Amino acid sequence: GRVQASSNWDDFDSYVDEDLTFRAYFQDAIVGKPGRFYGIGSTIGESGYYLAHSLKNHGHIVGVGVVKVRLESVEQRWRDAGLQAFVSDENQIIILASDPAHKLRAVTPLSPQKREKLALSLQYHWWALTDLKTLRREPLGPGEELITFPSERRAPGGVRYLALSQPLADTPWRFTLLLPLEEIRRNATSHGALAAVLFAFVSFLLIAWNERRKVIATRLAAREALQRANNALERRIAERTADLRASNARLKAEIREREHTELTLRRTQDDLIQAGKLAVIGQMATSIAHELNQPLAALRTLSGNTVRFLERGKLDVASANLGTINQLVDRMGKITASLRSFARRSDPSDSRASLTQAVDAALFLVEPRKGKGPLTLIRDFADCQLAIDQTRLEQILVNLFSNALDAMQGQQERVLALRGEAGDSHYEFHVRDNGRGLPPDTMPRLFEPFFTTKPAAQGGLGLGLTISASLAADAGGSLTARQPDGGGAEFVLALPLLPTETPPHD
Ligand code: ADP
Repeated sequence: GRVQASSNWDDFDSYVDEDLTFRAYFQDAIVGKPGRFYGIGSTIGESGYYLAHSLKNHGHIVGVGVVKVRLESVEQRWRDAGLQAFVSDENQIIILASDPAHKLRAVTPLSPQKREKLALSLQYHWWALTDLKTLRREPLGPGEELITFPSERRAPGGVRYLALSQPLADTPWRFTLLLPLEEIRRNATSHGALAAVLFAFVSFLLIAWNERRKVIATRLAAREALQRANNALERRIAERTADLRASNARLKAEIREREHTELTLRRTQDDLIQAGKLAVIGQMATSIAHELNQPLAALRTLSGNTVRFLERGKLDVASANLGTINQLVDRMGKITASLRSFARRSDPSDSRASLTQAVDAALFLVEPRKGKGPLTLIRDFADCQLAIDQTRLEQILVNLFSNALDAMQGQQERVLALRGEAGDSHYEFHVRDNGRGLPPDTMPRLFEPFFTTKPAAQGGLGLGLTISASLAADAGGSLTARQPDGGGAEFVLALPLLPTETPPHD
C-alpha cells in the first residue's frame, strides 16, 4: 500500500511514499477486484474519484495502479449551465454539488455509529458530514421528492425544489436534479400563456380559414349562379336576336312589298288621273266638235264668198273676209292648244300654280259646255301662287265648273260664283252654283269612285270628284262639299299657299 511512483512525484504534495493501505480502492484492487472510490485526499484534502486496478507479474498481484479523476470541473459546468444538482455516494453523502453549501452533507440523516465509522475511514478527510439542511421534505414517489431549502436572501419561507433522483449507471451513486418549483410554475404559467396565445392564434386561424372557406364557397356559388344566369341571358339574347333578325327580314320584305305596291298605286293613280282627264275631254268631245264645226262652217262660207269677191274685184270686202278668217283660225288653234295642254301628263315635282291662270284656262275649256242662256259669272278672288301643279289645278277646276254647269243645265237664271279666302297657310277657293243642289242621300257618296247621277247622255263616269279630291290631298290640301243656304251646291278647295315673289326694289 505504499506509493512507489506517482504523476506528481516532484510536487510538494507528492503521493510518493504515502501509505494508502487503508483506502478501500486499494483493498479491493489488491485482491483482484476493480477498485472504485470517491474520497478526499489525505494530503491536501482535495476530493477525487479513484479508479484502481491490480498490477500482476506472472499471475501474481504485485501491486495496484490508481488513477485519480478530479470532479470539480463537473460542478463548475453545472453552475455555468445554471443547473442545480448533486451526486450522492453509497453512504448518502453528497460528493458533488452545484451549490457548495450542499457538499459533503448526508442526504438522509446518519446514525451516530455510521457517522463515527465514516469519520474513522477518513474517506471524507476531516469533514463533519452533517445532515443536508432542509426546512421540509415531502416524498412524492420513488426518486421524486419536494424539498424546501432555507434561503435568507430570496424568501423567508425557503425555496421549494422538485428533486428528481436516479442511480448513475456503473456506480453506487445517485444523481439528483433540483428544479425550483417557482421557476417551473413561472415557466408553466408562461408556457400556459404562450400555449393559450398559440391556441387562440391557431383557433383564430382556423376560424378565419373556415370563414374564408365559407366566403370562397359563397363566392364560388355566387359566381356559378352568375355564370348560369349569364348563360341563360345569352341564350335568350341569341333567341331574341334570331327572332328580331327574322322579323327584321320579314319587315324588310314587307317594306319592299309596300314600296312596290305604293309605286304601282302611284302609277295607277297617275293613270287614273289621266283617264279622268281623257274622260272629261270625252265628255266635252261633242261640244268641242260643235265649237269647231261652227267656225269651220263659217270658214267654208267666208272662203267661198272671198273667192267670188276677188273675181268681182271687190278687194276691200275680200280683205275684210280674210281678216275674219284669220280670227276664226286663231280661235280654233287656241281651242286645240288648250285641249292638248290639258291632256298632257302632269308633273307633280313642279308644284306651283297661278290661280287666275288656272281659272281662266278651265273656263276656256268648259266654254263649249256653257250652253245656251245667260250665265252670271262672279269672280271674287285674288291671284295667288298655290303649291300644286298647274295642270292638276286646272283639272280640278274643270271638274268643278263642269259639274256646276251640268247642275244648272236648263235653268233660266244661272249663277256661278267663284270666291277666294286667304288663310294663314292655305287658300280656300269656293265654287258655288245655284243648280239643283246636293240632296242629303248623295252627300256622303259624292267622293266615292263611279258615283254619278248623270244620265248616260252626259257621259258621267263618277270619277271627277274622286280624282279632284285625291289631287287636292296629294298637294297637302282638301276638297269638301256643302249645301249652302239659299240652294245650289258649294265646293271648297283648300290648297297650301306659296309665298308670293315680291319684285326687287331699285
Ligand atoms: P260625274 O260628273 O262623272 O258624275 P263627279 O264625281 O264629278 O262625276 O260627280 C259625281 C256626282 O256628284 C254627280 O253625278 C252629281 O250627282 C253630283 N254633283 C257634283 N257636282 C254637283 C253640283 N255642283 N251640283 C249638284 N250635284 C253635283
